Amino acid sequence: MLGASCRGEVRRNFMIAWPLLHSALTGVCLLPFSLKRYGPNVVESGSKADITRRALIVKFGAIGDVIMALPAAHGLHQQGFQVEWACGKAVRPLLECYPWIKLVPVDDKAILAGRPLERLREILRLWRKIAFRPYQLCATLYYDSRYRILAAPVRSDRKIMLSRSSRDTMLVTGRQHTDEYARVVLGEEDTVRETSRSPLRPLHLPASPLPAKERRRIAIVPGGTSNILAKQAWRRWPIEHYVAIAQQLLSRNMEVVLLGGPGDEWVRPSFQQLPVTDCIGTLSLPEVISVCDSCDAVISHDTGPLHLAGLSNAALIGIFGPTNPSNFLPRRSSVIGMWGGHGFACRPCYDGRNFAPCTFNGCMHQVTPAAVLQQLDALLEDRAHGRLREWSVVVPDTNQPASAATILPVL
Ligand code: SF4
Repeated sequence: MLGASCRGEVRRNFMIAWPLLHSALTGVCLLPFSLKRYGPNVVESGSKADITRRALIVKFGAIGDVIMALPAAHGLHQQGFQVEWACGKAVRPLLECYPWIKLVPVDDKAILAGRPLERLREILRLWRKIAFRPYQLCATLYYDSRYRILAAPVRSDRKIMLSRSSRDTMLVTGRQHTDEYARVVLGEEDTVRETSRSPLRPLHLPASPLPAKERRRIAIVPGGTSNILAKQAWRRWPIEHYVAIAQQLLSRNMEVVLLGGPGDEWVRPSFQQLPVTDCIGTLSLPEVISVCDSCDAVISHDTGPLHLAGLSNAALIGIFGPTNPSNFLPRRSSVIGMWGGHGFACRPCYDGRNFAPCTFNGCMHQVTPAAVLQQLDALLEDRAHGRLREWSVVVPDTNQPASAATILPVL
C-alpha cells in the first residue's frame, strides 16, 4: 500500500509527466492546464522586469563542442538575450567561468547512458526547469533527432536543432565549427566571411595550481578522446611519440607537464621513468586552462584539452588525422595544426558521428616527433621575438606510411 504522501507524489509526477509526454509525442501542449497547480522548479535568472529575451541552449558536452559553441552563445548575450544553458556535469565548471550564462545543470550521464527509468526521471527534472519559461530562442545543438525530446515542452519563437537535411542548421563540412555554430544559432547570412571567430576566453579563471615556472614549460596531452558515449582512439597520437617528445624536451632542460582527465591514468606507466610534472586527473577544466596559461606551449591531438588550451594564451600544436583540422583547430594566433595522413584515400574518415572501423590509424603515425619539434621550435622562436603568427595547418611532406616498427594497433 502506498502512503498518502507517496500517493500524492505519484499523482503530482503524473500530472506533470503526462502533459509533457503528450506534448513531446503529439506536439500539442497541455502544460498550461496542468501546471497551473503544480509549478515547476524553474531556474531563477534575475528580475523578470529587466530581461526581455531569453535563449536556451541544450548542449550537455563534449568539451570541444561546448567551447566551439560558446562564441555563438556570446553573440546572443551581446544581442541582449539572457542565455541559459542546459549542461552536463563535466562542462559545468567551465561554463561557470562565464558569468553571463545561467546554467541549467543536468545529469547527462543518466540521460545518455542511464537505465530507462533514470533517463525518464532526469528528463522530467530538466523539463520542470525549462518548460514554463518564455524563450525567444531554443537551440538544441545535436543532430540526433532523439535529442528533440529534451526541449519538447519548451515553447519558443524560434526553435532549432542541428540537421543534415537543411543547410541553415547544419555545420558545413570543412568549416570551423565555432563559425558554424554562430551562423546556425545567430541565424547569420551564409555568405562571405573573411575571418573566423576565435575561442572565447573565460572571464574568470582560478590560479594555476603549479608553481611559477623556472624554465620553459611545455604541456602534452597523451590521453583523452573518450566521452560518455564513445571511445575514439583513432584520434590519438601514438603514446610512444609523446614519450619521444618528452625525452627531447627534458634533454633541453624544459619542464614537461602531463595533462589529462580522470580516465587517462593509463598513460602514466609510459612516463614513469621521466621527471615530468604529472597533472593527470587532478585538475578541474578551468585549472587546465590556467595551467596552459602558465606554459609556453601545449601539444595535443584532437581532444578536449586541445580546446581548453585554445582558450589559453599558450602556443598550441594540434595533431590531427581522421578528423579535419579545418573543423576543429582553434583559430587564434600561435596555433598550428598538423594534419597527418597526407595522400591517404581514407582521410578524413570521421563523418561527424563515426570513424572508419580502422585497425591502424596510420594518419596519426605519419606525424613524427621530429616534425612536431620543428613546428614547436618555430612557434617558440616567434613568440620569443614578439612576432605574431596567425593560425595555420601544415601537412607532412610525404605520404609514406609509418615504419613497421611504429605500427601498433588502435587501442
Ligand atoms: S588511417 Fe584512414 S581510416 Fe584509419 S583512422 Fe586515419 S583516416 Fe581513418
